[in-house]
Amino acid sequence: MRKSIVAGNWKMNGNLAANAELVTGLLSTQSGNDNIDVLVCPPAVYIPQVAALLQGTRVALGAQNASAFEKGAYTGDISLSMLAEFDVQYVILGHSECRALFGEDDSQVASKFLAAVAAGVTPIVCIGETLEERQAGQTLDVVARQLRAVLDVADTVALAGTVIAYEPVWAIGTGLTATPEQAQEVHQALRALIAEYDAAAALKVRILYGGSVTADSAAQLFAQPDIDGGLVGGASLKAKDFLAICSAAA
Ligand code: PEP
Repeated sequence: MRKSIVAGNWKMNGNLAANAELVTGLLSTQSGNDNIDVLVCPPAVYIPQVAALLQGTRVALGAQNASAFEKGAYTGDISLSMLAEFDVQYVILGHSECRALFGEDDSQVASKFLAAVAAGVTPIVCIGETLEERQAGQTLDVVARQLRAVLDVADTVALAGTVIAYEPVWAIGTGLTATPEQAQEVHQALRALIAEYDAAAALKVRILYGGSVTADSAAQLFAQPDIDGGLVGGASLKAKDFLAICSAAA
């Protein structure tokens, strides 16, 4: 039995006051449930603020990206060990916005994966096809290529603790959601691919769905056998909506 996980990706949103209000809202009704891991991923500059607000609570802290390198001449970047110093337990890697806007490729994502594992930070590896790729019938090939890049470098222990997020690019921030059947088909294929590398780890790896998840769509998605929770963008910015999504996963 895999523990559900719901991650809120705030993207480049928030400010000191709004963050405090959002976290207060999340904590006011966070009943604490052993069936689910909940985390929020604020913009990097707010990580110390949110870390302080979350201290001693059941909500964990994640980062939205990180460098593959430990230190050095990488202006503007932040290393995993720096994030770990601020209680960051998870890091989103290979988000489609980073792939599209910053040109991140599969091999960079694999390097970042290794850096996260070395720093003791749980990677949330994002993969997903574009609309053109889906329409061309390439969905399973694309996500397999993206996932293989990480599977090829992961050792067994790291792999079992890894979180994968299937996020069809056409569903992110668009209001379009994959149907539960569409998502399950991909999740099942991803788990089968992981099993080719390590059958025991395949049963443990948590595979999240992301792409315009709302309180209304969450329950049906999370009821699918290979969907272990969600990576939530827009709906994670409102405490009530995010908590409703967490309840659907618990
Ligand atoms: C995301 O940013 O990973 C995401 C899934 O966003 P949204 O929920 O807004 O589609």
